[in-house]
Amino acid sequence: SDLASLMDVSVNDVISTCMSLGMFVSINQRLDAESITVIADEFGFEVEFTSEDDEVEVEEVEDSPEDLADRAPIVTIMGHVDHGKTSLLDFIRDSKVTEGEAGGITQHIGAYDVVTETNKRIAFLDTPGHEAFTAMRARGAKITDIAIIVVAADDAVMPQTKEAINHAQVAGVPIVIAINKVDKPNANPDKIKEELSGINILVEDWGGKYQCQHVSAKTGEGIDELLEKVLLEAELLELKANADKPAVGSVIEATLDKGRGYVTTLMVQAGTMRVGDVVLAGSNFGKVKAMFDHRGKKMKEAGPSTPVLMLGLDGAPQAGDRFNVMETDREAREIATKREQIQREQSIRTKKHITLDEIGRRLAIGSFKELNVIVKGDVDGSIEALSDSLLKLSTEEVQVNIIHKAVGQISESDVLLASASDAVIIGFQVRPSGGARRLAENEEIEIRLYSIIYDAINDVKDAMEGMLEPTT
Ligand code: GDP
Repeated sequence: SDLASLMDVSVNDVISTCMSLGMFVSINQRLDAESITVIADEFGFEVEFTSEDDEVEVEEVEDSPEDLADRAPIVTIMGHVDHGKTSLLDFIRDSKVTEGEAGGITQHIGAYDVVTETNKRIAFLDTPGHEAFTAMRARGAKITDIAIIVVAADDAVMPQTKEAINHAQVAGVPIVIAINKVDKPNANPDKIKEELSGINILVEDWGGKYQCQHVSAKTGEGIDELLEKVLLEAELLELKANADKPAVGSVIEATLDKGRGYVTTLMVQAGTMRVGDVVLAGSNFGKVKAMFDHRGKKMKEAGPSTPVLMLGLDGAPQAGDRFNVMETDREAREIATKREQIQREQSIRTKKHITLDEIGRRLAIGSFKELNVIVKGDVDGSIEALSDSLLKLSTEEVQVNIIHKAVGQISESDVLLASASDAVIIGFQVRPSGGARRLAENEEIEIRLYSIIYDAINDVKDAMEGMLEPTT
């Protein structure tokens, strides 16, 4: 969006140019210097970078091959709603807590790691769904090594299954298929394999290249085998990292906890992080006061592919932000301050309005109390049903307000209202007019279109849950 306004062209033109160059981008995505240069060139512009940009980058030296050691794979589970992503993540987490470590309270920290039957480690991102995956990628984070795509054996290859596969493929992340719910009497894995072959995903026992495992998140059947297949895939990737340097990695999630201050889950991707280290994450920084694993157990250090919950940052960075351990407090503070300055300038320039993805962050920094929503739909009944359900999502922390609801397509006046009152627009079985779409783009108003009420409610609920404090 910023690049488009600098060149005075429409955001859609920039996005479609990116696509034609093989880059899958979103409107708020930060682009690297090389991409900016290439895209600008397509529009006949030459790019000059100011030194300001260099000052906020932390230089990461390349590792020499002899310093590299094998690291555990980092895995994301994706698939259609209700096909069992959460159940699978829960089963794996609960059944693989290594003996002798139990006793601590397991808590949701957005990531966890397990040790398999064959004594190998796998780290899981515990934020199921490709929305989270894509949001992280949009911020430039490359965290996931392997994606498990879950398909329910009693259902079918669904739109979100295809989307998840597509997102993984665009990101160049290898896929392992898990056909779930095979305990059910009406399970029909062969039908799923056939449907997968129809979208060019030919599984191994059908002569294809994709590993596939029948599992049940209910009985646990096939889960060890699934993990072994993930490890096999990981071996092919030859994942390596240098553990012997200051830690670098990505932010998984961050929240504000009344008792403990800012609580941040980080995935260490290389190097080793220790208590007392100075961490720079996005435009936040601080000394690691304490580190915990997902079992709530204190940690002294964390190496590559290890998720940690850290206390000590001065704010909540965004999911997907890169973090670096810095040598001095002063250096971290300087870069954090500069980044914040740039962010502030950018946000003044772009007048950023609320989006569902932004909610979690705004609440974490304590600046979000009300979510304003405009609902447009095709018939009165569904608008009422949707509005009622959205209102019921209100919590003690956040009030949902339906500031306007009406039958009809999304108009320019709806967008202006949203802009004036910082609202998101939800369209049910209706679309925006051309003028409304252009205006929304300029004003950066989020318009979400749905054809299933349940999906709309779920998205808002998920966004709001991102802003709820973790229950520990
Ligand atoms: P998600 O939306 O993909 O995260 O799906 P959930 O994990 O919430 O599962 C949806 C529903 O399917 C829940 O009611 C689960 O109890 C059920 N479920 C998930 N996995 C299995 C399974 O392997 N067998 C059976 N019988 N039910 C399952």
